Amino acid sequence: MSASDDCLFCSIIAGRIPSTKVYEDDTTYAFKDINPKAKVHVLVVPKRHYADVAELAADDPAELAHIVEVAQHIADDAFHGAFRLVFNTGLDAGQTVFHVHAHVMTGEKLDE
Ligand code: 5GP
Ligand code: ZN
Repeated sequence: MSASDDCLFCSIIAGRIPSTKVYEDDTTYAFKDINPKAKVHVLVVPKRHYADVAELAADDPAELAHIVEVAQHIADDAFHGAFRLVFNTGLDAGQTVFHVHAHVMTGEKLDE
């Protein structure tokens, strides 16, 4: 079984599970978090499956840099460019979906 068969975010990228798309290009997909923790809370993911950000950084650092660029574009549109970027990495850090995703939180002044 390939990663995409049993991975929630691979299923979202493939359109088998609905999502609210914010941005898409050849390598990257961004969609609204179903349980937002900020006025604008978007998940930015590579279309290729990597379990976490360390795996992505080791295998495709250019895609990791691109995810940061996409986050910046989202924040430029939503909130004069200010944003918080979070990669929960590992069960004990609160990662629940093991397809790397950047949480982009913006759209309002965030708590420190
Ligand atoms: P993690 O806890 O792994 O860092 O983040 C997973 C995120 O995915 C959570 O913020 C959660 O709300 C979001 N999420 C889980 N299932 C779905 C879903 O089916 N659709 C969307 N849009 N977000 C989801
Ligand atoms: Zn996946």
